[in-house]
Amino acid sequence: MKLHLFTFNAFQENSYVLVNENKEAIFIDPGMMDQEEENVMLNFISKNDLTPLFILNTHCHIDHILGVKFLVETFQIPFYAHQHETVMIERSASVSLMYGIPYSGCPLPDRFIDESDSFEFGKDKIELLYVPGHSPGHLALVIHSQRMVIGGDVLFKGSVGRVDLPGCNAQDLISSIQGKIYKLPNDYSVFPGHGEATTIGSEKENNYFVSEKTVRL
Ligand SMILES: [Zn+2]
Repeated sequence: MKLHLFTFNAFQENSYVLVNENKEAIFIDPGMMDQEEENVMLNFISKNDLTPLFILNTHCHIDHILGVKFLVETFQIPFYAHQHETVMIERSASVSLMYGIPYSGCPLPDRFIDESDSFEFGKDKIELLYVPGHSPGHLALVIHSQRMVIGGDVLFKGSVGRVDLPGCNAQDLISSIQGKIYKLPNDYSVFPGHGEATTIGSEKENNYFVSEKTVRL
């Protein structure tokens, strides 16, 4: 399995594409904002002769869903997210107006997913952690065989997700990081929704906001 990173839109959001040995592809948090960014993704899929399977979102803030509708319509694939994120999609049109970004809407998920779901993906298995706080239905993807987490906006290199937006809950974010993310092995890579990758161990050691035991939010 390979992880491909694209950084899209005005929020510099990390969109990931997982590709397995059968040339199948899963889109994580696709954030293409305009035709130019859509073409980058289309070219990647066609150049590598990939078969898109589905879209899986860690959460549904506007910067993470800008490319969902395009992919659903282009490839006729389903969109998966946690049920508690529907409120974010319902609010997304007004949020896009607030930020003044072009937006043609996002469909509601075809299927709601949570911690009890997992996905076989070629030789690998994608498991989910329910990690609310930055948003109410936030999920992190854990792929033990690759020793990696695709964590969305929960934990960043040296920082944590915002908790000042509607639907955020600081205490939940702390519990999600200390109770779930930090329980993963130290050598696991963390691929966040913004900024560069890090590791669990490095954040436990160096993250100013949430170390293993202390919290400053
Ligand atoms: Zn977010």
